[in-house]
This record gives sequence, structure tokens and C-alpha cells, in this order.
Amino acid sequence: MAEHEHEHVRVAVVGSGFGGLGAAVRLRREGITDFVVLERASSVGGTWRDNSYPGCACDVPSHLYSFSFAPNPDWPRSFSGQEHIRAYLERVTDTFGLRPHIRFDSEVKRMVWDTERLRWDIETSSGSLSADVVVSATGPLSDPKIPDIPGLDTFPGKVFHSARWDHDYDLRGKRVAMIGTGASAIQIVPSIQPEVSRLTLFQRTPAWVLPRVDRTISAAERALHRALPFTTQLRRGLLWGVRELQVQAFTKHPGELGLVEALAKRNMARAIKDPELRAKLTPDYRIGCKRILLSSTYYPALAQPNVDVVASGLSEVRGSTVVAADGTEAEVDAIIFGTGFHVTDMPIAERVVGAEGKTLAEAWADGMQALRGASAAGFPNWMTIIGPNTGLGNSSMILMIESQLNYMADYLRQLDVLGGRAALDARPSAVRAWNHRVQQRMKRTVWNTGGCTSWYLDANGRNTTIWPGTTYEFRRETRRVDLAEYAVLRPPAEDEPAAPQETTENAEVSA
Ligand SMILES: Cc1cc2nc3c(=O)[nH]c(=O)nc-3n(C[C@H](O)[C@H](O)[C@H](O)COP(=O)(O)OP(=O)(O)OC[C@H]3O[C@@H](n4cnc5c(N)ncnc54)[C@H](O)[C@@H]3O)c2cc1C
Repeated sequence: MAEHEHEHVRVAVVGSGFGGLGAAVRLRREGITDFVVLERASSVGGTWRDNSYPGCACDVPSHLYSFSFAPNPDWPRSFSGQEHIRAYLERVTDTFGLRPHIRFDSEVKRMVWDTERLRWDIETSSGSLSADVVVSATGPLSDPKIPDIPGLDTFPGKVFHSARWDHDYDLRGKRVAMIGTGASAIQIVPSIQPEVSRLTLFQRTPAWVLPRVDRTISAAERALHRALPFTTQLRRGLLWGVRELQVQAFTKHPGELGLVEALAKRNMARAIKDPELRAKLTPDYRIGCKRILLSSTYYPALAQPNVDVVASGLSEVRGSTVVAADGTEAEVDAIIFGTGFHVTDMPIAERVVGAEGKTLAEAWADGMQALRGASAAGFPNWMTIIGPNTGLGNSSMILMIESQLNYMADYLRQLDVLGGRAALDARPSAVRAWNHRVQQRMKRTVWNTGGCTSWYLDANGRNTTIWPGTTYEFRRETRRVDLAEYAVLRPPAEDEPAAPQETTENAEVSA
């Protein structure tokens, strides 16, 4: 029998990436120690543990892509590599005394809301427990997606996803097919191009790529940041402010991004002299519609003689031959998928069963939606970090995570104030109103009008991932829990009258 069977905690956090670790720090700071962090892997880090591909680094400067409450004066580069970010998260875990709370190798298999006892019953791969509140921080880019390609199972060579890099496989001298041209692929291509014998890049849609202004942070700068900590905050503030100023162009005036397109075209023209290749690599949609990528080495790598760019997606595998939708064929030894993640179909949603016996995935059949990016109607005392419409196109997700942690802290305070056994269930009308506002604002944004399809959009073409405003606005919207947006639930045995319940049946997206 697992050692923590029948255990009950106040809060169960799921995941130990930036979101889960941030939640754990915040819980401790709120004086809450009765919590666990359930993590399916054997170490912390989330994204930065799983993505160890060559060249993996953040694309938001490190001084902004880190916790405000755990500044790091020693970031080695403006855009630090995966190993440094992972080490930072390990340090945060130790500095804030989080390790005793973490249950590694504990994959959450199912969470069921107990309407009688007002608690979540949680089954994990290492036993079961229950919790008053669940904070789900399973990450939007956590479960790799490999497209269903006919014949892939017959491929005799090596196949892996960028987020599950096989470090035991030696790429030197190999013929490699790289599938995809997203943020991971453009970091992988220049890293492996010099060592493979042939690299065939399958590109369904070209990306807009701006130069990456990366540099070593000098010893003098680091010493300054250590001696005068406010200089780290100042640097962070400047990085944040510049990105806040860019938001209007993305959300209201996409036409203004034309100038940025010119910069991206220059970045390409500098490295790609062949007009045919340049034509293949030039996007036909507005910059910003898909994530803007940063690299000063991607185009130079594509111009090398051992690289072929196929302007078409992979459609079939026949033995060791990969075949593109346009009929182009190449024989390869390895296929690397840089094809992204299950974003709009979050796998955890299949495993959460709410008050009406439906899974979150069923409740979200017409698209994800959650009040202030956190609470779904019919899923009391369950909140998600980086939930629907909290993603950013141009700034640090840590800013959004920290806003959601403010919301989480206030949520727990409100439960304390209510006293006794109580739960908060987002009112369907409040979820609808929030989502309507978000979707109305989304209409003018570059993500919806820029003429592309992207992973920001769900199967219905609705943008359920991006926040259509500044991070400051989101911070303001998540400062406090507005109890009018929630129904207060009490155990059925108690005489206290519960607030009238709306059903979730009408909770479709109404934008
Ligand atoms: C390669 C890459 C580069 C990125 N670069 C940037 C960047 O520069 N700037 C930026 O703002 N964002 C970037 N992102 C986005 C990044 O995902 C977020 O910034 C942030 O790291 C997400 O943190 P998280 O804790 O929400 O999720 P994650 O880091 O994905 O952590 C989720 C955790 O939950 C665990 N988990 C999942 N399901 C279960 C389960 N059922 N049971 C138990 N545990 C579970 C996972 O194992 C994982 O540890 C990048 C993403 C990728 C993939």
C-alpha cells in the first residue's frame, strides 16, 4: 500500500515547473504548510527539465524570465540556456524549503470532486490522497504532440520529439529529418547542422525570425547586481516596460508591425542569398500572428550546403523514406519532431471530474474557458495556473504565473474568511462574461486577424490561449477574488443555505 494513502491535505499542487514551484513558495509565504506538490517526473523544472535539446534557451531575457521574488544576479547570458534555468529552479526549490513538500514520481491519474465532503479525491501513480483545493500547474507546453503520420511505425531509424531528446543517439554523420519550424526547431537546426551529414527541414509554414540580441552578461554587471540588488530590479523593470509598450501593436494596431516585418526580412536577406530559398522562407501572414522567433543563427544554418528546406509538411513515411505533402522524398536515419505540444487539449482536463460528473475535457468540448484564467464552472476549489487565455506573445510567462499566484492566495484567504467547510465554484455567468470580454478584445488582435493558423487557436479556430492585453492589466484583474463571481458551497449536511446554483449547461463560449 502506498505510504500516503488516505492522506488529506489542504492544497495539492500538480506540477513542479515555474507554476507549481511558484505556487509552493506562495503557499509557504501565506503561512500554509499543509500542502503537497505532485510531480510525475523525478526532479523539478517542468519545461526546463524536459527540453534539453541542443540550443535550448529562453527567448525572453533571463532577468525577466525568472521569479520577481527570487532575482538571480548571476544570469550568465541575456537569454540563458536550459541548463542554467533548470539549475535556477533547483535552487529556488532548496532556498524556499520546498523539497519536503514534493512527491516525485507521482503522476496524477484522476481527480474527482466529492460533492458531499467538498474535497478532491486524487489518484496518483504512487497512491491516493484528498485535498480541499487543487492548484493545477501541469503546464501548457508539457505534453509533446507527434502528428499521426501514416507509416511512422514502420520507420527503421530513430524517432524522437524535441522535448524528449535522446542524448544517447549520436547524430554525427546522420541524415536527419527535422519536422517543424517553431521555437524549438529554430534552436535545434543551427545546433545540429554542423554535425549531421544531411538535414532535411520540413516546413509547413515559415516563421518570422528576428535577430537574437544575445550576449554574455559581463562579470562587472553581475558584480554590480550582487552588490546593489536594486539594479537587477531596475533591469527587470526596463525589460518589462519595453514589452508592455509593444502590446498595443499586437492587440489593437497590427498594421504597425509592418516595420518589424522589414527587420525580419533583413535578418533573412543577410544570410539567405538564394532567391528561391528566400521565397520558401518568407511568411505570407502578418508578423506576430504566430510566435515571433528570435535567432541569428537559423538562417545562416539553412544556407549551408548540407541543408534542404522542403516547403511542405511531412505526410507519410515509407520505410526509411520520409515523404512531404508536395511529394518531395528523402531517405533519413532519424526523424526529430519539433511539432509542439497538446495546448488547447490539455491532457490533465481528461483526468479531472467535476461536480456534475463530467470531465473538464467534456466541459471544455467547445473550447477552454476559465474565470480569470483560473476557475472553471462546476469544478469547485480547483484552479489552474497558466489556464485558458493567459499566454503571451511577447513577454515573460512568469509575470502571468505570479499574477495567478496572487489570485490563488486570495482564493485561499477567502475560504478562510468563510470558515468551516466551504468551497468556491465559479458561476457559469461569471465565466461566460469573462470569456466574452476576452474574446471581444481578441477580435482585433494580430493573433486572430494576421492571416495564419497557429497553436494559439483551438480546433474551432477560437483563440483560447492568449491574453489580449498587457501583463499589468492581467495583474490588476487577478489581484483579488470577487466573491460575487463564485457560488459558495457548503456540505449538504450543514443547514446553512447554499447560494443558488446555476447549471454549467449554458456555459458555452458566447463570443
Ligand atoms: C522549449 C520551450 C521554451 C520556452 N521558452 C519560454 C520563454 O522564453 N519565455 C516564456 O515566457 N515562456 C517560455 N516557454 C513557455 C513555458 O512553458 C512557460 O514559461 C513555463 O515554463 C511553464 O511553466 P509551468 O510550470 O506552467 O509548466 P511546465 O514547466 O510545463 O511544468 C509542468 C509540470 O507538471 C508536470 N505534470 C504534468 N502533468 C502531470 C500529471 N498528470 N501529474 C503530475 N505532474 C504532471 C510536468 O511533469 C511538469 O513538471 C517555453 C516553453 C518551451 C517548451
